[in-house]
Amino acid sequence: MRVGIIGAGIGGLATAVGLQRAGVPVTVFERRDGAGDAGSGISLFGNGLAALDALGLGPAAREIGAVPGGIGPDTPAGQRRPDGRWLTRLPHSVQQTVAVVHRADLQRILLDALAPGTVHTGRPAQSVSVDGRTVDLAGGPETFDVVVAADGIGSRMRRDWPGDPGIRSAGYRAWRGVSAQPVDVTAGIGETVGRGLRFGIAPLADGRVYWFAVVSEPAGQPTGQPAGQPALDGPGPVLAAFGGWHRPIRDIVAATPPEAIRSLPIEELAGRLPTYRRGRCVLLGDAAHAMTPNLGQGGNQALEDAATLVALLTDPTIDGRDGRIDAAVAEYDRRRRPRTQRIARQAALLGRVLQARGPLTAWARDAALRFTPPAVAARGALAVQRWRPPAG
Ligand SMILES: Cc1cc2nc3c(=O)[nH]c(=O)nc-3n(C[C@H](O)[C@H](O)[C@H](O)COP(=O)(O)OP(=O)(O)OC[C@H]3O[C@@H](n4cnc5c(N)ncnc54)[C@H](O)[C@@H]3O)c2cc1C
Repeated sequence: MRVGIIGAGIGGLATAVGLQRAGVPVTVFERRDGAGDAGSGISLFGNGLAALDALGLGPAAREIGAVPGGIGPDTPAGQRRPDGRWLTRLPHSVQQTVAVVHRADLQRILLDALAPGTVHTGRPAQSVSVDGRTVDLAGGPETFDVVVAADGIGSRMRRDWPGDPGIRSAGYRAWRGVSAQPVDVTAGIGETVGRGLRFGIAPLADGRVYWFAVVSEPAGQPTGQPAGQPALDGPGPVLAAFGGWHRPIRDIVAATPPEAIRSLPIEELAGRLPTYRRGRCVLLGDAAHAMTPNLGQGGNQALEDAATLVALLTDPTIDGRDGRIDAAVAEYDRRRRPRTQRIARQAALLGRVLQARGPLTAWARDAALRFTPPAVAARGALAVQRWRPPAG
């Protein structure tokens, strides 16, 4: 069995690592000429770490996501108001289920785990044949037994899919950055919520701080930067919106290289795909289920997809009417679609609540957060993490 993978993001690379470790010949095609945008952080939760364990990458991921010095049980985590008062606190046991890593470090451990020559950069894919086996690529078509389309939210492959709903704006814009040096965040980590505004603080293993800022946009505003408008990248818009919030928000933004502060409109798949499988081609990661980042699950779900597909494709006992490989890709679709589409819906709903703009809705949100017992908040946070890969 030979597998071709389109896209060298988290999902494509993780799938390649798992298959290669199981002895399956695999080639990854990436449209870019080099490594992609890896300039911010990402939270890996229990489920993503379980997937990395299944792919043999768990120890390396835990190493890059180790808890930084000073972040112990005494550092509160949860949600705050802009003046710094706590709305809800999560137990330390929940904090310990998360590894916040720099995207560049995650990309490095994935690439290091692959044999040299596995990833072919500068080779964009245009389409996949109806039987899902032949990829039309820059440099010529190539045929595989299975093709994995892991080409992200704007997936070119998905455009030929039956029932592609396309993507839509979620109604808010995010800025992300990593401070150039450690910032003391022992006073608290997590999220601070205002009216149509949110700021997140997550320390990396070396004490630098990954942060994100989210601002609601007027309904119907086109995505991208409108011509003639002030620049959306850089610290200016972030400090204008959040500079008066509690400490150390201003310090964290100020400690981030200005050119590394990028904004992007938050988008999601505009509806549910009826299938993740077309012949021998499967959609994986954001290509299949691009979701808003409110639960921090997009990348974790891509890792679950990868671990599931690897386990199924390498399971010698799986069998079906049309043969082992067809049975495996059908089972991948059956297992992954309901879970990922449910999590995408939950993330969208949470975003609407957290980005509440009106005084009444924001007040109701804050009250709900304030009166949610920590044990209930913890159960909610842990529910999505309950996942185990299929035995391969
Ligand atoms: C603000 C923000 C915060 C987030 N925070 C988190 C978080 O904390 N935790 C989490 O789990 N997730 C988070 N996510 C989501 C996460 O980043 C994505 O779900 C994840 O990166 C998806 O990985 P992927 O491999 O599916 O796609 P991508 O990472 O987008 O990779 C797709 C790859 O395919 C390549 N490609 C595209 N088209 C082609 C083509 N035609 N031919 C060849 N190659 C192609 C691209 O260049 C790219 O390298 C966040 C997202 C945002 C926007």
